[in-house]
Amino acid sequence: MTTASEIRRQFLDFFRSREHIIVPAAPIVIKNDPSLLFTNAGMNQFKDYFLGNKAPAKQRVADTQKCLRVSGKHNDLEEVGVDTYHHTMFEMLGNWSFGDPRHPENGYFKKEAIAWAWELLTAVYKIDKERLYVTVFEGDDPDKLPFDEESYREWEKWVPGERILKGSKKDNFWEMGDTGPCGPCSEIHVDCREAAEREAVDGGTLVNAGHPQVIEIWNLVFMQFNRLKDGSLQPLPARHVDTGMGFERLVRVLQGKQSNYDTDVFSGTIAFTEQLCGKQYGGSDSRADIAFRVIADHIRAIAFTIADGQLPSNTGAGYVIRRILRRAVRYYFSFLNRKQPLLHLLVPALAAQFDDVFPELRQQADFVQKVILEEEGNFLRTLESGMRRIDEYLTTAGTSGVIDGKTAFELYDTYGFPLDLTRLIAQEKDFGIDEAGFQAEMQQQKNRSRAATALDTGDWTVLREIPTAFVGYDDLLVPAQVTRYRSIK
Ligand code: ATP
Ligand code: MG
Ligand code: MG
Ligand code: MG
Repeated sequence: MTTASEIRRQFLDFFRSREHIIVPAAPIVIKNDPSLLFTNAGMNQFKDYFLGNKAPAKQRVADTQKCLRVSGKHNDLEEVGVDTYHHTMFEMLGNWSFGDPRHPENGYFKKEAIAWAWELLTAVYKIDKERLYVTVFEGDDPDKLPFDEESYREWEKWVPGERILKGSKKDNFWEMGDTGPCGPCSEIHVDCREAAEREAVDGGTLVNAGHPQVIEIWNLVFMQFNRLKDGSLQPLPARHVDTGMGFERLVRVLQGKQSNYDTDVFSGTIAFTEQLCGKQYGGSDSRADIAFRVIADHIRAIAFTIADGQLPSNTGAGYVIRRILRRAVRYYFSFLNRKQPLLHLLVPALAAQFDDVFPELRQQADFVQKVILEEEGNFLRTLESGMRRIDEYLTTAGTSGVIDGKTAFELYDTYGFPLDLTRLIAQEKDFGIDEAGFQAEMQQQKNRSRAATALDTGDWTVLREIPTAFVGYDDLLVPAQVTRYRSIK
């Protein structure tokens, strides 16, 4: 079996031998960009080249980028653990050509990007050609976007017509925003079903979430237009290639597994979790299986993000991490019957596993472990009573089907349950949440703490947000903005 590390190396070697410079990944956490909390695609760190704000130092670049898709437009959190190929944190392998009108000879476009993608997948990785489908943009009349005939012609050199599918704007047209660089994209999908099953159904109709074993692995974006404020499209003076391939999905295909979690990217973490909980993955308990997958997934997001400088806290990006961590704690607590902190124990093996590509985790492994343990301990102190509170509520709520705003807020404020965790637990019992009611309670509390602050400060009226259940993080040597959850009676 080819290991995940080897598969990553083969990708980078392939593009290095085609004159690409291999660059380090950008941190997952994005500072100084109000439009994005976390890196969610390989192209993020190159945004200024596409916008024309900066000239690229190198025109051909490749890397593997740590991405996190848990907020904003790309939020895959609900899928994680339930399906077998969406992660919170994942690696996106990518190759780029940044166009530069002064040196057009250094760049490349559809012809090379498509030929190389095909060569890498079929000649280097040796994926069976019969399993591969590609999509091209069909065009969109109302928006005056043309059919991407150029890509179609390039694919035709390699792929039989019945496996080149036309896709709509939703999947096959990429834009950064309402204006700016944009262009068609071509996706590559792999049919991982057994041969007999493949013959029985037309795989073409299953591309794009039609079947759990027919999955998208690579997206090739061709930026060739600039959209102006009036909506019209102009050709870009310098065209760019931006590709992204899901590393964990690629490894699953190459290792012949039915799930990303069965590859060596995750199997070590799952085996260790099995040991720690005394339970088996892949048995008859489907909720335990989801928990194993959620934990194997979430610990990566948590550990790598902390290593990149984002500590759990009660606002902004820090709260996103705290929410993911609490979600993972609740999964082992409820479904793996583990009542002691667990996540921090998974860090050393993870750090060793990724040392060749992301050494920043090993370099800070002790600190990362300490932060996670502290967080786990704090939440475990209130989780059990919070769960009892929900159970009580649900048994007396009759058939209303909704957790009221006051109770959802109490769970948040007193027991540290993020709203999305309460929503998840409610869903398991076919309940919803009165979210407007929750927001109203939250607002009232903000008003109360504002009034209290104004009173307390005497001469000085300093209006600031005071989180009710959180106190300053004072016993670890970490930046002052970090906050800690206080144990609650
Ligand atoms: P999907 O349709 O499966 O959600 P996507 O179209 O949203 O994927 P892109 O934005 O095109 O994904 O990203 C490029 C590649 O990154 C995808 O082809 C896929 O292989 C991988 N990828 C995207 N989201 C995830 C995720 N949450 N977990 C793992 N890999 C992902
Ligand atoms: Mg997606
Ligand atoms: Mg897609
Ligand atoms: Mg895509």
